[in-house]
Amino acid sequence: MRVQIEEIPPEGLSIELKEGGSRFFEEEAALRFGDKIVARLRLSRVDQFVQATGRAETTATLTCARCLEEFSFPIDSEFTVEIRPAEKAESHGEVQLLPDDMDVLTYTGAGIDILELVAGQVAESLPLKPLCRESCRGLCPQCGQNSNLSECGCGPVESDTRFAKLKELLRDPDS
Ligand SMILES: [Zn+2]
Ligand SMILES: [Zn+2]
Repeated sequence: MRVQIEEIPPEGLSIELKEGGSRFFEEEAALRFGDKIVARLRLSRVDQFVQATGRAETTATLTCARCLEEFSFPIDSEFTVEIRPAEKAESHGEVQLLPDDMDVLTYTGAGIDILELVAGQVAESLPLKPLCRESCRGLCPQCGQNSNLSECGCGPVESDTRFAKLKELLRDPDS
């Protein structure tokens, strides 16, 4: 989906998208989403310069880096992106200082690629090292069993004493 600069009226242009993830990430088949990607954005324009503010929401299906189980990762990304004409951005030749949290994209005569814009924001929200939960215990280094599910009895790990204490506390007081 492309928007031409002339299509953005002085009062701005609101866009709402609801598409399956594969529409946004055509080349990355490994990236899967549990929900459709819902994006709402508003484009406003001053002369040739466009600012897009919006929000993208979806749920990604990720693989935990420790236990290798799949889990759902909710994404709710609010963004502000500045979009300027490619020629101007290049010919300027000067480094412009922008707030760190503002991305700058460029557009060409073909217009602004909305899918690409939203895909970029969703991709930035993905963790580099996905964990199903902060406390994930991962796989047993000896037998490969998922330690979150059950103890495999492969021998002591450093947190054993803590669990022994916990077991004591949980013991039925009547016994
Ligand atoms: Zn995990
Ligand atoms: Zn084991």
